[in-house]
Amino acid sequence: MEKTFNIVLLGPPGAGKGTLALEIEAQTPMSVLTTSNALRAEVKAGSTLGDEISDLMAKGKFVSDDVIFKVIEESIQSDQFQEGIVFDGFPRTLAQAEFFTKHDIQIDILVLLEIEDDVIIDRMQGRRVHIPSGRVYHVQNRPPKKEGVDDVTGEQLSVREDDQPEVVKSRLEDYHRLTKPIIAWAEEQYQSGVVKNIIKLDGAQDFESVWRSFVMQVAALTDE
Ligand code: AMP
Repeated sequence: MEKTFNIVLLGPPGAGKGTLALEIEAQTPMSVLTTSNALRAEVKAGSTLGDEISDLMAKGKFVSDDVIFKVIEESIQSDQFQEGIVFDGFPRTLAQAEFFTKHDIQIDILVLLEIEDDVIIDRMQGRRVHIPSGRVYHVQNRPPKKEGVDDVTGEQLSVREDDQPEVVKSRLEDYHRLTKPIIAWAEEQYQSGVVKNIIKLDGAQDFESVWRSFVMQVAALTDE
């Protein structure tokens, strides 16, 4: 693969990865690769595999690494990613993280969005999403201009099936068990050069503060 600038967003569900990804896409020439959107496209295709994926996603369970590798390998070939990729939702397991070392793909910035579980559980109750674009709202903290509809398209917002409290708890357990070990992996890689920079953001803050901190930390890196 040709060398592109890569950002990986890591954090629990509801930490704000999707919103940050879309803002980076809006402000830079980079494009977002949202694993769950690529999976939804597979579901739409109506294959048997699509049915399995749809069932796992509704339950908030991880899709197998093999399926994820297939989706990622197909997606990164696309011309749209020549100016750089913002990975939203990948990697989620250590095996997925090793995809970067195995294919010698450098992570220029790994962004760690840190937030406590109880804040997430509260936040997910009010989360509303515009599925086609990935735009995320919150009934209190980030309401759409008009209740229940997307600001840009005017289309209906949805409550994700996997945002129900019991499913969120199970997603958080999987995050701690399967995804969090990637942080130690990244710290090791940081020393050996595959992960160039690690930035930490407080995901519990409002989005404007998260964005400001992201911009300041990236600017500090480029000044070095
Ligand atoms: P997200 O929109 O990132 O919260 O992802 C929604 C759902 O898609 C997850 O709960 C999983 O079912 C599936 N999914 C997305 N990315 C991955 C991944 N990297 N590995 C396994 N499953 C994934």
